[in-house]
This record gives sequence, C-alpha cells and structure tokens, in this order.
Amino acid sequence: MSQALSLLQKIQHPLFEKYQLDVRVKRDDALHGIISGNKWRKLKYNLAHLKNQGYQGALTFGGSYSNHLHAFAYACKQENIPCIGIIRGEADYANNFTLTWARHWGMKCHFVDRKTYRRRFDTDFINELNALYPEYFIIPEGGSNALAVTGVAEVLTELASQADFDTLITPVGSGGTLAGLISGDSVVNNKQHKILGIAVLKQAEYLREEIKRLVTPQGLKHNNWQLLTHFHRGGYGKFKAADVERLIAFNKQTGLTFEPMYSGKMILALLDLISQDYFAAHERIILLHTGGLQGLGGMIEQGRLKASDWPPMPTL
Ligand SMILES: *Cc1c(COP(=O)(O)O)cnc(C)c1O
Repeated sequence: MSQALSLLQKIQHPLFEKYQLDVRVKRDDALHGIISGNKWRKLKYNLAHLKNQGYQGALTFGGSYSNHLHAFAYACKQENIPCIGIIRGEADYANNFTLTWARHWGMKCHFVDRKTYRRRFDTDFINELNALYPEYFIIPEGGSNALAVTGVAEVLTELASQADFDTLITPVGSGGTLAGLISGDSVVNNKQHKILGIAVLKQAEYLREEIKRLVTPQGLKHNNWQLLTHFHRGGYGKFKAADVERLIAFNKQTGLTFEPMYSGKMILALLDLISQDYFAAHERIILLHTGGLQGLGGMIEQGRLKASDWPPMPTL
C-alpha cells in the first residue's frame, strides 16, 4: 500500500471559541478514496507481511456492514491478494451495501451463524479455517494485531512533523487503533501526550486489558491515556435521533462528515466533555478522523438515516 501523510485541519465551532480551544482533525478519512482511515493504517503492514511470507491469500472476520471487511476487500484487490471474509449472519446479507461492494472487489463471503462467529478468536476455530483455506493469512476482526499497532503508530510520527498538541482523541471499537496511538506516542515523544479513547460499545471496560495486551512493551510505560466508556449512546451500532441531529449540525458547521457509529460518537463526546469543563483553556486537541463513511451507505439502506442529510453514496 502506498505511503501517504494525512493532513491536519483546523476546525471552527462556537463551543471551541467559547472555551478557547484549538481543535484540529487528523484527516485519516482522506488517506484513501475507499479504504477507511484507521483500517488503511491497520492493513498496511498486515498485507506487507502476508506478501513477504508468501501466503496465498488473506482471510478476516466481520459483521455484514463492517468497515473493516469493506476496506480489506478493496485493499486485497489493489494488491492482487485473493481474500475471504468470515461474516456473522445469513447469506442474504451478501446483497447489502457493504458486501455488494466487497464481493464486487473479489472478496469471497463465508457466512457463519452467531454462535460460530463467537468462536472467531478460538484456536480450534482458527485451525479449522486454516485447514479449509490453507496458506491464507488470518487477520483478526477489525484488523487489530501487532502489525496493525505498528501501522497506527505512524500517526504519531506524522504528527511530530505537523503540530504539537496536548490531547489526541480517537473512537474505540476493538482497541487496536488506541493501542497504536499509545505505542506511537511512547516512541516519538519524550513527553507523553494525553490520549483519549471514546468507546463506542457498551460495557467496554474489558477493553483496557485488551489495549494493554496490544500495545508495544514501550507503550506499556505510557500512563497518560484513558478509555472513556460512558459515551456509547446505547451501545454498538446504536444511536438516538437527537444524537444524529447534533452530529448533522456539527458536520454542517465544520464542513466535514462524521458518521454516527464511530467518529460521530467521538464528536458528541468531545462536545459533552467541553461543556463539562473537561479541557483547560487553550488546550490543543487533535481528533483522529478514522473514516468509516461507507457505513453510511448501510445505515441509509436500512432506513436508519435520511439520504438527503449525508453525502451521496457510490453505487455499482
Ligand atoms: C473500525 C473503526 C474504528 C474502531 O477501531 P478499533 O481499532 O477497532 O478500535 C473506529 N472508527 C472507524 C470509522 C472504524 O471503522
């Protein structure tokens, strides 16, 4: 995957002005036209490793509207890597927004029921998949492994040449991205920046251990990060109409697009934290825009969002 540096963009909002905050967005959403920002970072060294080691293909896991599967399918097509998605759910999902694109780019769909999907981290299930698809490199759900951490850590290398800051914020699903930021910050800087993760799923406290498992040994020494677990707005994949309205207003105000599943929860958390006086005056905040805009296609298709409120989605 080609090398790129994502831009840092200052954004304006009345609340930032009122509280005298300097807020910038690290535009990883713009790293690639199709591959979602943090997934681009996470796949980069996974696919390089797979090629170096001479694997025949790639296999990974996801839900039927997964940003990871969408990014994975396109990245594999770009690199001429045969690929398989192990998907939670029934075969008729194959025609939804996300999987139609993934199949179009050549991903083979292997559907499993929820009970089987729960075994996605189990060694015996991985062994079964290895037997079924020999010579395929298996990437965990969300792409989160040590190679992903190396890729995400490069956000901090880039920031070191772009701007100094006080606090870096990211949405958190599996924790791989947050682990990458912590690891990157522990190498690049002699001062530990504050790194905040906003969990998008309910009861996400368990992720703190998962993040510690994923960070590099040096990253383990970083003690200025936090996972905030009370901004999930109902749980993974859930959001309320009022949240969506606030988000649409924020998008209009800033001229950027944040979707309600991941990056939007970070935005709403930011606005809430500002109103709660969480940040000091003149604090320099960077928001990592992790992308995920393809997810809007699925939410519009399901009637959960109104198409006219969002940028047009690509059609086949
Ligand atoms: C996958 C995803 C995340 C979550 O990243 P993790 O590394 O799993 O925590 C955040 N934002 C977007 C847009 C995503 O697609």
